[in-house]
Amino acid sequence: MTGLIEIEGVTHAYPTAAGPLPVLENLQISVPENEFAAVVGPSGCGKSTLTRLVAGLLLPDEGGVRLHGEWVRSPRSTVGMAFQNPVLLEWRTILDNVILPLEIVAPRMGRRERVDRAMQLLEMVGLKGFEAKRPSELSGGMRQRASLCRAIVHKPEVLILDEPFGALDAFTREDLWQTLRNLRQEEPFTTLLITHDLRESVFLGDQVFVLSGRPAHTQYVLDVDLPDDRDIEILYDTRSVEMLAIL
Ligand code: ADP
Ligand code: MG
Repeated sequence: MTGLIEIEGVTHAYPTAAGPLPVLENLQISVPENEFAAVVGPSGCGKSTLTRLVAGLLLPDEGGVRLHGEWVRSPRSTVGMAFQNPVLLEWRTILDNVILPLEIVAPRMGRRERVDRAMQLLEMVGLKGFEAKRPSELSGGMRQRASLCRAIVHKPEVLILDEPFGALDAFTREDLWQTLRNLRQEEPFTTLLITHDLRESVFLGDQVFVLSGRPAHTQYVLDVDLPDDRDIEILYDTRSVEMLAIL
């Protein structure tokens, strides 16, 4: 089966003064529609590079990324994104921050309809009552909830999350994992989550890919307590990616 997100043989190196720095090599990942794929790996292994490639902000040296069968060559509005530090506009209310993508993607949609859509999401993530506040009046966790709403308000084909909970304390982070799970049940979306947190990847991912940045055929010993009675098994590994099955 072909996926909605297909990362096909992606190879990328950055030019540096000391010569090219290889980061990703022949990466293959396929994410079916409405599935949640988590890519986990240590700092510096190329996760944000992968985010930029899927978002069309960077072109690979070899291979490519397809969304719904179409090659990604530039950024597109059918991709929603959220990062570690939510960039919310301080001069706008939370509601108007969430509405922003609709103003760009659906300029003819009426104000009433935009507000209804944004409020529906804000309610789902527990921010009802905070819509008229400014970003600085909210906690970090609440700001990240608002930025998740903004990332999906226009129903993007693909949601990319690059370390979205990395700056949050452990309690708030786990709260947000649950929020994200609930959101997915209400409104399925195809997601690529990038994280260095193995527990997070396993809690949220339907599929988990380990980006090890290590030589061929070495495997991580995974010792993770799953939140339920699933097991984890390494399905295969290639030079730079290992896929885990959650059974
Ligand atoms: P991660 O997000 O997993 O921490 P990155 O994708 O940000 O990793 O970076 C992967 C590697 O590429 C790191 O060694 C980083 O220093 C290097 N790198 C990232 N961006 C650039 C760039 N624009 N130019 C040169 N090297 C870079
Ligand atoms: Mg990164």
